[in-house]
Amino acid sequence: MFVRELTRPITELKGIGARTAEWYRRMGIITWFDLITHLPRSYEDRSVRIPFSKGYDRQAVLTVMEVISHSRIRFKGGFALKVMVRDETAAASLLCFGRNFLKNTLIPGRKFYFYGRGQVQYGELQFSSFETAPFREEAPPPPEFSRIIPVYPLAGQLTQKIIRKDIAGLLRSSVKHIRNEVPEKLLSDYSLLPTPEALKEIHFPSSPARRDGARRSLVFGEFFYLHLTVRRRALKREAVRRTAVSYPRNLNNRLLESLPFRLTDGQERSVSEITADLESGKPMARLLQGDVGSGKTLTALLAASLVIDGGRQAAFMVPTELLARQHAEESARLLEALGVRIALLHGGMRRKDRQLLLDALAAGEIDLLIGTHALFTHDVAFRDLGLVIIDEQHRFGVLQRLSLTKKGITPDLLFMTATPIPRTLTMTIFGDLDISVIDTMPPGRKPVITHLAAEASRERVYQAVRAEFDRGRQGYFVYPRIEFSDSSELKDAVSMYEYLTQQVYPGIPAGLIHSQLPQEEKQSVMDAFSSGAIVYLVSTTVVEVGVHVANASCMVIEHAERFGLSALHQLRGRVGRGAHQAYTFLIFSEEITDQGKQRLKIMKESCDGFRIAEEDLKIRGPGDIAGLQQSGFIQLIYADLVGDLDLLHETLPAARQVLKEDPGLLSGAYSLCREVLQKAPPFAEELIDG
Ligand code: ADP
Ligand code: MG
Repeated sequence: MFVRELTRPITELKGIGARTAEWYRRMGIITWFDLITHLPRSYEDRSVRIPFSKGYDRQAVLTVMEVISHSRIRFKGGFALKVMVRDETAAASLLCFGRNFLKNTLIPGRKFYFYGRGQVQYGELQFSSFETAPFREEAPPPPEFSRIIPVYPLAGQLTQKIIRKDIAGLLRSSVKHIRNEVPEKLLSDYSLLPTPEALKEIHFPSSPARRDGARRSLVFGEFFYLHLTVRRRALKREAVRRTAVSYPRNLNNRLLESLPFRLTDGQERSVSEITADLESGKPMARLLQGDVGSGKTLTALLAASLVIDGGRQAAFMVPTELLARQHAEESARLLEALGVRIALLHGGMRRKDRQLLLDALAAGEIDLLIGTHALFTHDVAFRDLGLVIIDEQHRFGVLQRLSLTKKGITPDLLFMTATPIPRTLTMTIFGDLDISVIDTMPPGRKPVITHLAAEASRERVYQAVRAEFDRGRQGYFVYPRIEFSDSSELKDAVSMYEYLTQQVYPGIPAGLIHSQLPQEEKQSVMDAFSSGAIVYLVSTTVVEVGVHVANASCMVIEHAERFGLSALHQLRGRVGRGAHQAYTFLIFSEEITDQGKQRLKIMKESCDGFRIAEEDLKIRGPGDIAGLQQSGFIQLIYADLVGDLDLLHETLPAARQVLKEDPGLLSGAYSLCREVLQKAPPFAEELIDG
């Protein structure tokens, strides 16, 4: 089977030793499969000859040249070789800085293929970076001087030359193992290339049209299998049967009565949809979508209270320990008075305490267990787990979800996300989940006012924020990076913390928080912020997830053009959670693109996550689709959910049709795509499979 071939490590390939393998590893490339799916980030068309006479302003030149003579120029206290050359149209000179050894190859009178980008200086066309290869009348030109060549993302000391050679070699030795994955009929119906052909063409295209065709074929295949998988999961889930139940409503009613407010329409609707699932004859797999602050947590706790009232247990899994604690406190506040036994499982527990907790859990003395993915490590056993609630589930890796499987449980599953996913997408990529949407915000929330500011007016923003501090409010400053880096102009949290505390707001207590801090430190900074001891937080996007401080009324995001719409939206959701009018300041730098401007404009105009997601889709921003693709919701190799949206829709009827004609496809017949899907978005499947 070729899949096994492709899982071999790249060190088994000729010419890849430990050092090179390490550079590859930094890009996540371990196996043949990884390497073969390491796609070019761009291409250089070297299929057309361009003579020296057309070479100016760093225009590419591709020609056959003859070496005329050598001379020397001063360079770094010594000399550098200068080679005078000409082709049929004009003369040029090659400046060989640090490459004096070229005098032995670029010998006067000999002919070479030449590729480079030069400039006219002192009246002559000069090249300081260029590639050459000996010209042979009788032999065809080497690929680097006659074809479209790939330009790959690099790491370490890898060069384009090395990586091209490695991939070309791999294609030669592995292409025979790669089976075509798109059914024959579709190949002709949709004019697609068979998979091996498409892979060859995407790396080393024979023409721009063939390359585009290759990419389309690969993306088509990827989407096709995505649809199949989603459909397969849905069918599988439909096949599981259980006895319908009817849960008592006591606890649920008491919880509702204890609230100082009424549920919003969106919450009402979601609660009744979830309740129907919980009591139905098949397991629930439902995605609850709702903007930050729309009241998802409460909705989930209402679901939990039903199950608990029925004498069963519920688990609430969240992405970080910080959030676990916050949720535990919130749940305790709402439910403990009603007699619900709540426990928090966290990493910092002493062994003895942990054991006590686990014993109580197994004995059914805990009703609701809250924690991170640690909830599903092997020694955690429930007596009767009825409902699993997973908050911001896209932040959990596939592996964590897998460990649930091993426990062989089929509880009801409620996934919650604040990532607004446009309906067009939920229908296709989450076709196996039922969906509830909370599209109403609790009354009385004032929409956050968003201001856009050019870098030049940063000081004014700082002043506006100071006014908020003077009113007793708190705030956030968010930066795209943790630390200063020479290679980047971007402001970073660490340096800006220094700057803000020393220059801008001396004497006002501040905290710094980012992912590289130890857990306890993060915790104590957050605690101080929650209690008001710290007035503002300087951070990276770690504040994105779920932090809730009602007194925080302002947020400054610098280099806002660097963030995707969904990240901005999520960040902004951290403020405006209290009674005070809240503000977000999006500071953008001069390098902002038109698309970037459009994104920020949407942020200014709307606070509605779904509208933002739809707009995001329209602009088709930089592969962001509401942060979906990067967030790990779904990992696609060839496709870009945003750019390839049309194809995603085109493949759906194709998949339906093929399934109708060949239902066998549902059970097997996975190959390269299977590999893809194993890294991909499995939700219900893993959990229900067990
Ligand atoms: P989410 O999890 O969707 O971000 P939360 O469940 O954390 O939102 O709710 C945010 C805040 O709104 C909480 O303090 C919660 O108590 C409150 N809340 C929830 N539902 C309502 C409602 N219907 N009316 C008023 N406040 C509500
Ligand atoms: Mg929440």
